[in-house]
Amino acid sequence: MKMKNNWDYAPAPETTPVEIAPHYGLFIQGEFRASQNGLDMASVNPATEEELFRFSVASSSDVDVAVSSARKALGKWRRLPGKERGKYLYRIARRLQERAREFSILETMDGGKPIKESRDVDIPEAAKHFFYHAGWADKLDYAFPGRKAGPVGVCAQIIPWNFPLLMAAWKIAPALACGNTVVLKPAETTPLTALRLAEVFQEVGLPEGVVNIVTGAGETGAALAAHPGIDKLAFTGSTAVGKKLAEVCAGTGKRLTLELGGKSPHIIFADADIDQAVEGIVQGIFFNQGHVCCAGSRLYVQESVLEEVSAKLDFRMQSLRLGNPLDKNTDIGAINSKEQWKTIQSYLEAGKKEGALLHQSNQSALPKKGYWCRPSWFEGVQASHTIAREEIFGPVLAVMSFRTPEEALTRANNTPYGLAAGIWSDKGSKIFAMAQKLKAGVVWCNSYNRFDAASPFGGFKESGFGREGGRQGLRAYLELQS
Ligand code: NAD
Ligand code: MN
Repeated sequence: MKMKNNWDYAPAPETTPVEIAPHYGLFIQGEFRASQNGLDMASVNPATEEELFRFSVASSSDVDVAVSSARKALGKWRRLPGKERGKYLYRIARRLQERAREFSILETMDGGKPIKESRDVDIPEAAKHFFYHAGWADKLDYAFPGRKAGPVGVCAQIIPWNFPLLMAAWKIAPALACGNTVVLKPAETTPLTALRLAEVFQEVGLPEGVVNIVTGAGETGAALAAHPGIDKLAFTGSTAVGKKLAEVCAGTGKRLTLELGGKSPHIIFADADIDQAVEGIVQGIFFNQGHVCCAGSRLYVQESVLEEVSAKLDFRMQSLRLGNPLDKNTDIGAINSKEQWKTIQSYLEAGKKEGALLHQSNQSALPKKGYWCRPSWFEGVQASHTIAREEIFGPVLAVMSFRTPEEALTRANNTPYGLAAGIWSDKGSKIFAMAQKLKAGVVWCNSYNRFDAASPFGGFKESGFGREGGRQGLRAYLELQS
């Protein structure tokens, strides 16, 4: 099947000016302050490789001060009536909406994702999480009927770089609604929007110490996780670090939730609407450069439609626009960091070396500066290939085929992960039968990557445990008495 597409758009870059300070301190006890030893590091714009700003690196003694600040704030915050806590959350949500454009631009500059995603997904979803949890703050006793609900205490929260503000919102909103106080550590390549969120906390008069933000790399995270003064640790990141943190928490009495990696499968049946399925697959793996924990990175296609799906994938890939993330027409932005770029390149090499055939988009030359990866998919992938087994966290899709639903199910479940799955079929009964047997925290049917603050998200197996969002997500932040 041959198809061609050769029209183009004029550039439409976002030009609204935003301010970025040359240096950001740690946010402790309601104010920004430098780290005690004066150490700092830089965050770059991955689309230009330019240094955007520098930020303080928290040492274990800074972490200690942040944890004490959260502990001090806990007494008053937990005793505040739920409806008063809710008012703060509503204010944060509204202020995020008012500053949405600025936050979208900052998110895109610090992390490299296309502005249309920051604008349409990251920032509105972050605001939604605060709105949603504001609504729970005075209804916690009804969330778990017959039990008296109280906070867990001081919560340490460590987040990754793929949805910087959204992950901060996923962590902070339920914690505050339930009466906990927080020490949050953003990722070292994307701390900007969490630090600007701290400004929002100041603007709305959130009591000092209720949220503290410590910036730095893995060492800062390790110091926070090991601190004896925390009651709970919530971590989103790689499975390797998650396993270490499970060891650190074991036997300490600290509560732990882990949101880790994935290698999520899509299954396309021959009876599916193929155009709709291909669009969902493309969004599910190329969206945010594949920096999505639940990215649909394995695709199983029923044999009779494999040729059609492959041709349509190739065609759609050619019309994806890669480049300046601040351009409103850009579909594919920059890879978040040089390290991640190298990781993705090594997987592309492994795929070719092990015998799979690489298809890539070839529409325009890659920008000279910055970290870029063309949307890619592999044909002729075997289940044993590295690219079919390991999480790549980049815009790389492994395509395989199947004959029967049983085979699709066995192959889809053949992974140490269990975060998400996608089913594409015209037959409701088939979808429900498959969905029940797929070992994944979320199963999307004839759609993919749909989120809502009211529906819980989380994994099975090595994708972690605990849920975020919905009533289920509150459970991790509450102590229930009967
Ligand atoms: P990472 O685990 O290296 O880093 C995540 C965070 O942990 C960062 O803030 C980092 O500074 C910190 N960290 C690193 N080492 C640490 C240590 N020893 N102790 C404490 N904290 C430490 O992960 P990454 O490579 O930056 O992020 C990508 C990974 O995150 C992928 O595997 C992806 O699947 C996963 N992820 C999962 C979800 C989910 O909801 N399940 C969401 C986003 C990302
Ligand atoms: Mn950055």
